Amino acid sequence: MSIILDGKKLSNRLALKLMAKISKLAINPKLVIIQIGNLDRTNVYIKKKKEFAEKIGAKVLHEKYPKNIQIEKVISNILKFNKDRSIHGIIVQLPLPKNFDTTRIIMAIDQRKDVDGLTAKNTRLLFDKKNGFVPATAKGILTLFKNYKIDLTGKKITMVGQSSLVGRPIALALLNEGATVTVCHTHTRNLKEETKRADIIVVAAGHPGLITKNHVSSGQIVIDVGITLKNGKVVGDVDYEKVSKIVKAITPVPGGVGPMTVFSLFENLVKAYLLNSSNL
Ligand code: NAD
Repeated sequence: MSIILDGKKLSNRLALKLMAKISKLAINPKLVIIQIGNLDRTNVYIKKKKEFAEKIGAKVLHEKYPKNIQIEKVISNILKFNKDRSIHGIIVQLPLPKNFDTTRIIMAIDQRKDVDGLTAKNTRLLFDKKNGFVPATAKGILTLFKNYKIDLTGKKITMVGQSSLVGRPIALALLNEGATVTVCHTHTRNLKEETKRADIIVVAAGHPGLITKNHVSSGQIVIDVGITLKNGKVVGDVDYEKVSKIVKAITPVPGGVGPMTVFSLFENLVKAYLLNSSNL
């Protein structure tokens, strides 16, 4: 059996350190979460973020708007939050309903409060390997590797998925750590070939069971980012039962990357707090 990379346990342990850090701040860091519509998936993500915030002593202002809200109203509220000194971070819970221009909304966020690391400035900083806000999922995966003492320098990593929100930032973050990264997507001709020759496979496709025992080899590390609600259960993109018998180490779903993502978001919030308070 493989080693389980336990993101839940690790995030609980790291949360204690973050909590201690927050307890020394003058006021509680505050995050605004903007939600448009009422998707089950986004409701679940937001619930987890609120629970984590409560645990560590951060505040969350949940702004939930109906899906017929005017985009101008959303943007004017973001501009108001940008100016509000009691607010340290702003995120837009994605995905938004199809009729909304996600980029336009994200770009309204002040980059100093962009704790999801999705504005042009922060994306550019990641691109240039400079210090900005790294998107929470990518940051969470790096923290997981660091804590399990997995060195990425020179490692062959196959990233499955290339979305702007997940796959691409993860690929860039891994590249910045000195890995040799191959990015796969729906047009990749022979996925098995690309995954089998990697030292590490990271999957963020949103397709349960995409990575089977035929896609992996012994000695590999598998990071499953996928989260899909299937028959009321949360499942990843990897056939965990079979793959975990072959590879060296693997993240479970739930309890792997998900909790690390939530932790990293609040780590970014504390960073934003410190950054903004030093600029007052
Ligand atoms: P998306 O649909 O925007 O992108 C999916 C990507 O996977 C695309 O780039 C596509 O080319 C690729 N892909 C899909 N099917 C493929 C196939 N058969 N072969 C090769 N590539 C394929 O989704 P997303 O927003 O990037 O999210 C991906 C998954 O990650 C979802 O399950 C989502 O719920 C999950 N997610 C998890 C976390 C976390 O913290 N664990 C955070 C965000 C998203």
